Amino acid sequence: MSNPEQSLAQPKRKTRQARVVWGSRVVTVGGDAPVRVQSMTNTDTVDAIGTSIQVKELAQAGSEMVRLTVNTPQAAQAVPAIRAQLDRMGIDVPLIGDFHYNGHRLLTEFPDCAQALSKYRINPGNVGKGDKHDKQFALMIEAALRWSKPVRIGVNWGSLDQELLATLMDQNSRRTEPWDFKAVMHEALISSALDSAYRAVDLGLNPDQIMLSCKVSGVQDLIAVYRKLSKRCDFALHLGLTEAGMGTKGAVASAAGLSVLLQEGIGDTIRVSLTPQPGESRTQEVVIATEILQALQLRAFVPSVTACPGCGRTTSTTFQELTQKIEGYLREQMPLWRTRYPGVEAMKVAVMGCIVNGPGESKQANIGISLPGTGEAPAAPVFIDGEKRMTLRGESIAEEFQTIVEDYVKRRYGALSATSSQALQIP
Ligand code: SF4
Repeated sequence: MSNPEQSLAQPKRKTRQARVVWGSRVVTVGGDAPVRVQSMTNTDTVDAIGTSIQVKELAQAGSEMVRLTVNTPQAAQAVPAIRAQLDRMGIDVPLIGDFHYNGHRLLTEFPDCAQALSKYRINPGNVGKGDKHDKQFALMIEAALRWSKPVRIGVNWGSLDQELLATLMDQNSRRTEPWDFKAVMHEALISSALDSAYRAVDLGLNPDQIMLSCKVSGVQDLIAVYRKLSKRCDFALHLGLTEAGMGTKGAVASAAGLSVLLQEGIGDTIRVSLTPQPGESRTQEVVIATEILQALQLRAFVPSVTACPGCGRTTSTTFQELTQKIEGYLREQMPLWRTRYPGVEAMKVAVMGCIVNGPGESKQANIGISLPGTGEAPAAPVFIDGEKRMTLRGESIAEEFQTIVEDYVKRRYGALSATSSQALQIP
């Protein structure tokens, strides 16, 4: 049986392990913990009900932490209400507060907000300028200490500390062989994160309460920066391409950048910063993040559907429709199945378009169906655990196949669940 908490294959470097906690829910980040998925709401935080609903959707799609903008006193006041609403709905996902410019005031003046959040994101580039910077940064760390919360020092090259960049550029101009601008920019991002982290430690924060990120919007920059950052510290790292973009571009750019780093063992949490297409659900960023981890065989979140691309041997759209239906069905079931049928996320389903690769691929899956290609007899053999068990015919193949999948899940993973609860009863 696969354990959802266990990585399938994780070529990881060892980082410090942080804990992000809400009530009895503890999400470990770093160390030997699985790579975690984060997301961020795009509702107005002041709209406590709308935000709670979106947090619930993101959590049910597989997000293990959800970040909210906390930008005004009204938003800070709404945070405890959002937390309470989520608790009433049985959603214990930890909430992260995203602070810029006024985080020191909001965390100090709204203690209920500081307490309801499970982690604070601090952007050192937006903490204050000149003399105010250190003082305001210290106030945010004080709040983390008071409420025993971890922080993410989240540097972003769109809001990089300009004073630090100017200092590094100045130093660079005095080098006999000056670095190119990109190298200085990378160094500024890394220095900003590390200097702030060590300052937080000097102020009393345990290094295990600190996570770092240095987000950029270019794939090669992301890889270069995180490779250097990971060599220079053992803090848990949050990965993400900032402003990844919309649709296919955002998904592919995120997958390309994150995959290289994750494969090298760099990265403890990820977020896909996807721009939603008009009308698209915010959960799409979670779907892509979970698919990246699943494709790399680092985690399993949802049963996978193997489907052939189709070709001239299958000219009808039946198998495309069946693939889409079964994928949607499996994803919809997961909020319930995740708790009821442990291990189901590792299940493999195959939907194939014709006899050429259909039976062979279907036998490799837990359940596979080989639909008839053009000119084949109108029959769809179904394979369960490598054996042909039945043949479906007629108009309701999709519904019948879904029922077969559902029965299989109950039998196979329900039995595992019963076995594990019996095992727990052994004194
Ligand atoms: S399984 Fe059949 S329909 Fe699908 S791609 Fe291969 S040959 Fe084409």
